[in-house]
Amino acid sequence: MRENIHPDYNEVQVTCGCGNKFVTGSVKKELRVDVCSKCHPFYTGQQRAISVGGRIEKFNKRYSK
Ligand SMILES: [Zn+2]
Repeated sequence: MRENIHPDYNEVQVTCGCGNKFVTGSVKKELRVDVCSKCHPFYTGQQRAISVGGRIEKFNKRYSK
């Protein structure tokens, strides 16, 4: 009985824009995403930190004198 509750729920391979691939559960057969847990700025902190740092440097240079 219970095994038939989710008849269309399968394991699907998700392809991310960064090239990372991982498997998750979905009713879809294929998934494509722009960001995943490995490349999202919230998790890596790199892209956002670099851009913000650059802005702060310019700001300090402009107003430090
Ligand atoms: Zn990714």
